[in-house]
Amino acid sequence: MLTKVIEQAKIDHFTKWFERADKIVIVSHVSPDGDAIGSSLGLYHFLDSQEKNVNVIVPNAFPDFLRWMPGSKDVLLYDRYKDFADKLIAEADVICCLDFNALKRIEDMADAVAASPARKVLIDHHLYPEDFCKITMSYPTISSTSELIFRLICRMGYFSDISKEGAECIYTGMMTDTGGFTYNSNNREIYFIISELLSKGIDKDDIYRKVYNTYSESRLRLMGYVLSNMVVYSDCNAALISLTKEEQGRFDYIKGDSEGFVNIPLSIKNVCFSCFLREDTEKPMIKISLRSVGTFPCNKVAAEFFNGGGHLNASGGEFFGTMEEAKAVFEKALEKYKSLLIAKN
Ligand code: 5GP
Ligand code: MN
Repeated sequence: MLTKVIEQAKIDHFTKWFERADKIVIVSHVSPDGDAIGSSLGLYHFLDSQEKNVNVIVPNAFPDFLRWMPGSKDVLLYDRYKDFADKLIAEADVICCLDFNALKRIEDMADAVAASPARKVLIDHHLYPEDFCKITMSYPTISSTSELIFRLICRMGYFSDISKEGAECIYTGMMTDTGGFTYNSNNREIYFIISELLSKGIDKDDIYRKVYNTYSESRLRLMGYVLSNMVVYSDCNAALISLTKEEQGRFDYIKGDSEGFVNIPLSIKNVCFSCFLREDTEKPMIKISLRSVGTFPCNKVAAEFFNGGGHLNASGGEFFGTMEEAKAVFEKALEKYKSLLIAKN
C-alpha cells in the first residue's frame, strides 16, 4: 500500500475538473528530460484511455534516447508549431503543468499558458513552486513527477486503466530522475510502484538499455575527451568538466550527447560535488549543471552563483560570459563552500 502523498481535497478537486473536461493540454519544461516526457506521456496515455482530447506540448526538442517512448511522436514542439500549439493552449479546458515550478521554465510558452482561461494544475517535485495554477500538487520529497502521476491516477481510482504503454513512460521518468535508482531512491514505496508497473507487463531491463545504452560512437569519444580534460579539486572534494562550442563541433555534437556527463566525476572516491560547463549552441551563454552526493546543497551554489536552482543533489543555472569567467566563478564558489565540502567526507 502507498502513503497518501497528495491531499484528498486536491484529488477531489482535480477529479471534478477531469470529469467535466474534454480538451486537456499537458505542458512540461524546456529541454525536456526523461521525467518531463515520462510524466507527460504517462498522464497522456491515461487521459487518452478515458476518451479525452489530449495534447502534450513542450518548448523544444527532447533527446533521441527518449524517442522510443510510446506516444513520443505525438509530442508537439512549441518552437516548431507555435500557432497550432497556441490555439490548443487557448482552447483547453484544463492545462496540466508537469515537472516544473515556475512559468519561466517553459520559456516562450509561458505567455500563452498564463493567458489561457483553462483551469490549471501543477504536478511537480521541485522546491518553491510559484503560484500560477489553481491546484498546486508540489511534493519535493518525491523523486520524480512520473511517480506523482502514478500516485494521482491510482488515487483517482484508475489503476486498472494504466496501460503497458503508460506504465513504460512512468517507469522511464522514475528511472531517469533517480539515475537508474542510484540517488533520491531510498523510499521503499518507489519499489512497490515498480512492482505495480511490472504487473502491467513492462520490461524494465529493456527500458534501461533503450535509455542508457543507445548512444552514438562520437558521443562515447566526446565523453573520453571531456573526461581527459577534467579538473579535480582534491582539496575541495570537487571536480569540473567543460565543453566549448568549438569542441562540440569537433565531435559532431547533437543535443543530448552530453546528458549524464556531469554525474561521472562523482564516481571518483571522495568527490562529492561535480560541475559541468557547456557552451550553449542556441543562446550566447554557458549552461551550468551541478551534482552532489550526500547533504551538500548544490542548488544553493546554483542560486547564489549561477542565477539558477534545482534540487539538493541536482541543480543548474546559466552564465552569461566566457568559459574562463564561468570557471573562475565556480572556483569562487568552491572557496566559499570549502569547509562544507570537506566536512562531507
Ligand atoms: P540539468 O543539470 O539536468 O540541466 O538540471 C538539473 C536540475 O537543475 C533540473 O531538474 C532543474 O531542477 C535544475 N535547473 C537546471 N537548470 C536550471 C536553471 O537554469 N534554473 C533553475 N532555476 N533551475 C535549473
Ligand atoms: Mn523531474
